[in-house]
Amino acid sequence: MVTRFKSVVIAALLLVCAPLARAEWIGSEEAIMGTAIRVELWHADRRAGEAAAAAVMAEMHRIDRLMSPFKRDSELSRINREAVKGPVIISKELYSLVSRSLDFSRQTRGAFDITFSSVGYLYDYQRQTKPSEREITEALPNIDYRHIVLDPARRTIRFARSGVRIDLGGIAKGYAVDRGIAVLKQRGVTHALVSAGGDSYVLGDHRGRPWMIAVRDPRERAQAVAVLPLTDRAISTSGDYERYFEADGQRYHHIINPRTGRSASDVRSVTIIGPETTTTDALSTGVFVLGVERGLAVVDSMPGIEAIIVDAQGRVHRSSGLAPPDGESG
Ligand code: ADP
Ligand code: MG
Repeated sequence: MVTRFKSVVIAALLLVCAPLARAEWIGSEEAIMGTAIRVELWHADRRAGEAAAAAVMAEMHRIDRLMSPFKRDSELSRINREAVKGPVIISKELYSLVSRSLDFSRQTRGAFDITFSSVGYLYDYQRQTKPSEREITEALPNIDYRHIVLDPARRTIRFARSGVRIDLGGIAKGYAVDRGIAVLKQRGVTHALVSAGGDSYVLGDHRGRPWMIAVRDPRERAQAVAVLPLTDRAISTSGDYERYFEADGQRYHHIINPRTGRSASDVRSVTIIGPETTTTDALSTGVFVLGVERGLAVVDSMPGIEAIIVDAQGRVHRSSGLAPPDGESG
């Protein structure tokens, strides 16, 4: 009895003393891959915690060097130069991400397609320039994930026709978040958030409570369309407000419908929740292209995946696992 009482007292003292020990939340932010990378983690030792956050940033820089379409010496740029000429041997890492991208293309019936870039590269959202009708018509046949030929035995990639380009912008940030979480786990971190722009993963809980993650209203950015309690979960949002410009009364944004070579316009934002960020990132982009009905059909067919979609009229739609109880409006 006494010993038990003692241990309760000791536990209570430990709780009270915890703030005096050096355990604390550590936050870090950096601009990498053209977006804001954020790491928040809990660590018993401040210096070890800071080192862990720095290791995540280093991993993000490594992935950017490998996959950036803007760096001439990235492996991705080399593929885009050489894979039209014949099979190119590539790293295991890029091979597996391209291969997963093709899986997502099949799952979304071509809505997610890394060859979107065959037309997509003609848009410049900063300079506000876009391809002409004729340029789109000419390059459009080069968009088709089936033009990508992988050979697993030799670990090569080849493009079946000239004019094909790939860009991993719809999946690389989610992949980088998953890699960041893996780096933290290796260092024994059990409570953390890693995010790259609209792609996040929350590891463990927020010290006893779930992480509360807000899904922003795509037009009223200070407001939330939903606040979700999450633990050990990935969440990605794709929106038409991240990279866009307006011209002749139209919004030109960075999510391209592979069938038209133009910005997808059925919805304003798509949020996907799932077990890992590579998946939620690719699906948020793919479902954005598919629109409400076809998008929710794909999501509802995938176990463990949920979605919140804001349509072109601002109405909120949820997948079956998230639908509010009867009577409550979206
Ligand atoms: P972000 O997190 O950058 O806002 P998303 O996850 O919504 O982005 O993905 C948008 C990016 O995906 C674009 O900037 C482009 O690089 C790429 N992309 C655009 N359209 C497609 C598509 N149909 N399939 C795959 N990737 C795409
Ligand atoms: Mg995405």
